[in-house]
Amino acid sequence: MKPNPQTISITDLSLVDLNMWKSGVQVLMLTFVDDKTLQKVAEAFGGEEAVQIVNVLRGVSETTDDEIAQQTEIRLNTVRKILYKLYDHSLVGLRRSRDKTTGWFIFHWRLQLDQLAGFILNQKRRVLEKLETRLTYEQNHDFYYCGTEGCKRIPFEEAMELVFRCPTCTKLLMHFDNEKLKTSLQERVEALRKELGE
Ligand SMILES: [Zn+2]
Repeated sequence: MKPNPQTISITDLSLVDLNMWKSGVQVLMLTFVDDKTLQKVAEAFGGEEAVQIVNVLRGVSETTDDEIAQQTEIRLNTVRKILYKLYDHSLVGLRRSRDKTTGWFIFHWRLQLDQLAGFILNQKRRVLEKLETRLTYEQNHDFYYCGTEGCKRIPFEEAMELVFRCPTCTKLLMHFDNEKLKTSLQERVEALRKELGE
């Protein structure tokens, strides 16, 4: 039995217990997936149709692709395609049974909300990794830019080789101040690290 943290006074706990309690709360928060997040993930996987499919799955313990197609009026093939996409990421689970009269397989689908929390966590970790890589790149380079919209910033070494002429528009390359960009990247990295408890 886990003690309910709300019934325990903080002063009764040793530091170790307190840390365990804190991490417990964090895990709870991360495994809780609200409707809005669920809709967003579904939408990313298969647009409005995936949202409809997920909404059907949310209301039942499990159901067949046939039933989903009937309820949503989405073509069976599309329903299956979206379900398999979700299945690839473990967001839905699958159970197979055999129809006694026809001998065909019946596929029973269920939503795996616990997996969804893990999926979102992984996505956030990937975003964090990308942001960190980008931040390091910005920190380690000095950039030069012509000021023309659509032209690229060029790192110092390359700019020198180009004798500080933009290879696209031939304008003079000037030093580009990336302090603001670095600050904003740093802020996003820190916010995500905090959210992920890293
Ligand atoms: Zn240019």
